[in-house]
Amino acid sequence: MKYSSINWKYIVVVGLSAAGTDIVSVLLAKPLPDNNRIIAIERPPFAYWGVGSLRAAVIPGWEEKVIMSLNNVCPEDESHKVLAATPVVSLSERTIEIDRTFPEPGLHERFIPFDFCVLATGSVYPFPTRPHQKTKEEAIDDSRQTQRELAEAELSYVSEVDQ
Ligand SMILES: Cc1cc2nc3c(=O)[nH]c(=O)nc-3n(C[C@H](O)[C@H](O)[C@H](O)COP(=O)(O)OP(=O)(O)OC[C@H]3O[C@@H](n4cnc5c(N)ncnc54)[C@H](O)[C@@H]3O)c2cc1C
Repeated sequence: MKYSSINWKYIVVVGLSAAGTDIVSVLLAKPLPDNNRIIAIERPPFAYWGVGSLRAAVIPGWEEKVIMSLNNVCPEDESHKVLAATPVVSLSERTIEIDRTFPEPGLHERFIPFDFCVLATGSVYPFPTRPHQKTKEEAIDDSRQTQRELAEAELSYVSEVDQ
């Protein structure tokens, strides 16, 4: 099948953390019609488990446990596609816009018209509960740097009376 010869119905899932990856699994649990195409999109090049992030900030070894590969989110065949390291930059009623094109799976425009769109973009958290937008190696280094800084920090106590 050539991508361009199919009248795709696009199911776009934005955000591949706990909710987004679950939703993709549920969608794939039963066979989809042949012309249904899941495009699953995540901003960093990896999935990040925010719930474990505070442990990653203090316990050596956890910086790697909170980072997961996006390779197995869905079987990448001619239909479905994971777009990692890809921010969605705008959303309208029937279209999302990503930051670049992907000609290989037939996404020649930055705008993807969708039939269904799931926004699993979660909450906005500061680092370390969300990673800076970097590579996996840089994200691991960031956590290790935080571990060092916290290990060297002096403990202090601020009581309500002092505030
Ligand atoms: C320390 C800590 C402990 C927690 N403990 C619990 C707990 O015990 N129980 C609980 O239920 N919850 C807990 N939470 C909350 C937890 O973060 C959420 O429940 C969970 O992460 C929600 O998952 P999510 O997939 O909805 O969103 P998120 O984990 O926030 O994921 C959203 C994803 O969307 C992506 N995204 C966002 N915008 C874009 C965009 N424009 N383009 C592409 N991708 C985008 C992000 O990169 C991210 O990967 C905790 C949070 C923290 C920080």
